Amino acid sequence: MPEYKFDTLKVRGGYNPIDHNYAVSVPIYATASYEAGTTERFDRLRSGAELGYLYSRIGNPTVSVLEERVAQLEGGSAAVAVASGMAAITYALLNVAQGGGRILTTHQLYGGTADAIKKLYPASGIAIDKIDSDSSIEEIASAIKEDTKAIFIESISNPNAVLVDIEAIAKVAHDHDIPLIVDNTFATPYLFSPISYGADVVVYSATKALNGHGNAIAGLIVESGKFNWANGKFPQFTEKYYTLRDLNDVERSFVEAFPGASFVTRIRLEYLAYFGAVLGPFDAYLILIGLETLSERVAKQVANTEKVIRFLKGHSAVVWVSYPTLEESPYKTLAEKYFPKGVGSTFTFGFNGSDEQISKLISSVKLFSYQANVGDARSLIINSPKATHGELTPEEQKLAKIAPETIRLSIGLEDADDLINDLKQAFEISLR
Ligand SMILES: *Cc1c(COP(=O)(O)O)cnc(C)c1O
Repeated sequence: MPEYKFDTLKVRGGYNPIDHNYAVSVPIYATASYEAGTTERFDRLRSGAELGYLYSRIGNPTVSVLEERVAQLEGGSAAVAVASGMAAITYALLNVAQGGGRILTTHQLYGGTADAIKKLYPASGIAIDKIDSDSSIEEIASAIKEDTKAIFIESISNPNAVLVDIEAIAKVAHDHDIPLIVDNTFATPYLFSPISYGADVVVYSATKALNGHGNAIAGLIVESGKFNWANGKFPQFTEKYYTLRDLNDVERSFVEAFPGASFVTRIRLEYLAYFGAVLGPFDAYLILIGLETLSERVAKQVANTEKVIRFLKGHSAVVWVSYPTLEESPYKTLAEKYFPKGVGSTFTFGFNGSDEQISKLISSVKLFSYQANVGDARSLIINSPKATHGELTPEEQKLAKIAPETIRLSIGLEDADDLINDLKQAFEISLR
């Protein structure tokens, strides 16, 4: 296969029509199970000697195209699709820390992730250490303990679009023989490729900008294929599994049986197989359609975002705007290094009004939707402290640097002038 560029891969990657009755559009394989044919073929499929499908909880041809396409867009070695972004995060973190250990992360996280790691992980024997995402590399290094299994960060944080020095953090992780796992949901592979800066695992809520049409819930986990899971810290990858026996019934480990793809294959054969948060072929198809226009959508959303920000910066109702390319942003240098095409379409601003006036603002917009699904073709407005990060206590919001006056916008594909006029009239009504 020639080395195709990003925009070619996003419409054609992972799919060869010859393998699917020459269908031009990826077919939806609406089947739970697959005919094995003979007992010999079943054995070959079970042992991995022949690639194919047995049951759609483990693999489905429509879902496979999505997995392969996203792995290619990401520059990774393999990917696995799951039923949601939360399932992607849970399975990725469990895959490194199953049986105990610690995850090092930051206060600047998606609200659902923050609440899950507060409540569910410690209750399952996985400890969480949180530091500020502005911590120095030395502070990050000293927060890594003997049993820390991974560093987990967001490439563009939710909600304030805060950036971190990913290349330096990847180096610290590798110096300690642990992987860097990056939630790249806000950026999408169009704006940023974590693997090219040393990340080992990338997770997505494909519900958001990857799909962009707000019509499906989905998640993806991509691995670089470069991390050494046999370095002694991750016995789950080197222990022999009866279920991984080869055609001669010799038991194998994930590292032996799936070199370069052991991380995502373990998620597939352990967690999808037994916990079962599997993505259905219909939803995989919707994400594939969304991906076809990823670059065009995100580029226009970034352009619209810049116009809306210019308006906000000049309005007296706005106290501050948090977007990394702004002159006053502490993340400007990181934005220039990592995000030459823009830092996405989700950001926050401070509204110069009371709680009551914030409520009035949100009920006065006519075009912006009041909902949480960022990266959508339709713009949204939301009061993050009460909604997207409402799970966080006031003290936790302070640590996450989410001020009470925070309004989060996600800018869509509408005409920027209409969006600006909508905000203008809503500011006027709410501050009357
Ligand atoms: C939405 C979101 C998630 C969760 O994804 P779902 O598909 O809703 O489960 C995780 N991380 C980030 C950054 C998100 O925005």
